[in-house]
Amino acid sequence: MERFDVVIVGGGVSGSIAGIAAARNGSRVLIIESMGFLGGSLTNAGVNPMMTFHAGDRQVILGITNEIVQELVKIGKSPGHVKDPGNFTATYTPFDPEAMKYVLEKLLRDAGGKVLFHAQLQDVVVEHEIIKNISVLTRTGTSVLAASVYIDATGDAELATRAGLKTRLGREGDEFTQAMTLTMRMDNVNVEKLRKYVLTHPDEFWVDSDKFKRAERISVAGFKKEWAAAKAAGEISADNGRDYLLMFEANNPGEFVFNSTRISGYNPIDPWSLSDAEFVGRRQCLEIERFVKKVVPGFENAHVIGTGPNIGIRSSRQIVGLHTITGSELLHQIVPEDTIAISGYPIDIHDEKTSNVKKLPYGGFYGIPYRALVGREVANLIVTGRCISATFQAQSAIRTTPTVGAIGEAAGLAASMAAISSTPVQKIDIQVLRQKLKANGGFIQ
Ligand SMILES: Cc1cc2nc3c(=O)[nH]c(=O)nc-3n(C[C@H](O)[C@H](O)[C@H](O)COP(=O)(O)OP(=O)(O)OC[C@H]3O[C@@H](n4cnc5c(N)ncnc54)[C@H](O)[C@@H]3O)c2cc1C
Repeated sequence: MERFDVVIVGGGVSGSIAGIAAARNGSRVLIIESMGFLGGSLTNAGVNPMMTFHAGDRQVILGITNEIVQELVKIGKSPGHVKDPGNFTATYTPFDPEAMKYVLEKLLRDAGGKVLFHAQLQDVVVEHEIIKNISVLTRTGTSVLAASVYIDATGDAELATRAGLKTRLGREGDEFTQAMTLTMRMDNVNVEKLRKYVLTHPDEFWVDSDKFKRAERISVAGFKKEWAAAKAAGEISADNGRDYLLMFEANNPGEFVFNSTRISGYNPIDPWSLSDAEFVGRRQCLEIERFVKKVVPGFENAHVIGTGPNIGIRSSRQIVGLHTITGSELLHQIVPEDTIAISGYPIDIHDEKTSNVKKLPYGGFYGIPYRALVGREVANLIVTGRCISATFQAQSAIRTTPTVGAIGEAAGLAASMAAISSTPVQKIDIQVLRQKLKANGGFIQ
């Protein structure tokens, strides 16, 4: 049985950054990932851009998450943080997903961390509140692995659930999980033609014309009338809950990512339901491709590069940790004493039919407490990413990639500290963790 200091299940952005942080702190680290690359939703579900590193004019996400952007910029695979021409957030950060896969793994390997791809968590052995080992299913069968401390970065709290942590699914009361989206990428778009159309019809879009005119990469939210007409004609199916087109120009000029399918009523942790959702997403993407080629100026010669490849899951299980973050805490801009990451992203729930957004005042931000990363039941398990302890409403805010990256850095460092000092994860010195995060360039107040 191979032994590590820290084993992380899930190599999404949060798990990858946790791995980099723990390895840089001197721990022997392994990330177990079911796909053949790191990045999670950023690389396996086509999510783009990262949103947002800023609260108003102030950059609040720094540390390793920002270092990744700097690495991407250096190799020409991201323009860096650009102003949001739609004013939804202050900035967002387009990137190239292939380069993202590379940079995450390069930083992990440079720090001495290892990754096991094509490996799926299978089983967990817990004795006296300690995870003794886990087994993973690989091409050669089952492998048993052990660590001093484990991190659940699966997005769906898979390891935590199997280890016996209390979890909940979706919205309190009815277990509704946010709408899923299969993203789609198209390239060869005539951006100047599209830009001109938006600028001459500003009332039809959520747009700040001044910023839009100068934007290095544009995003477009609108075509509401045309969308409604297509729905009435049956060209866009009624089960697509969106009522407008939303798309972002990615790193490569003229390439757009669509966040315009909306697949509701499916269960992200039931494989049969998820399989059906993938097919609905595929149909909705085809409808959107036809729609933009017919209706949107600049798309006449555009073509589809790909979808997802997987359907994107915004919310599923949350652990019930020592503290559960609430929407009210975020809106009141609470920064608790055990804050390990700061974010200014709004509450952003994708309902069946609408987006339910509650913004903070310009420049406002809130803190993510360490207590939301640990449960009561297991002494050597930390949870990171979109499945930490938060209400349905709060999760919709803390789930985006810069924030889960910053949470991941804290989770990795905390796991490494607990492994080095043989301390239960609930009892590590959080003020030392905070000092180390600051010393490593983090912003946590
Ligand atoms: C459609 C959509 C649009 C979004 N738009 C934006 C946006 O514009 N900007 C933004 O910043 N954020 C956006 N988000 C949110 C953001 O992408 C995610 O919340 C974030 O990437 C979650 O990161 P994570 O590391 O917590 O989890 P994930 O990205 O879900 O990563 C989990 C990883 O764990 C692996 N895994 C899971 N189970 C197992 C297992 N049993 N064994 C081994 N490996 C396993 C998975 O393969 C995956 O790689 C969007 C999300 C969606 C779905």
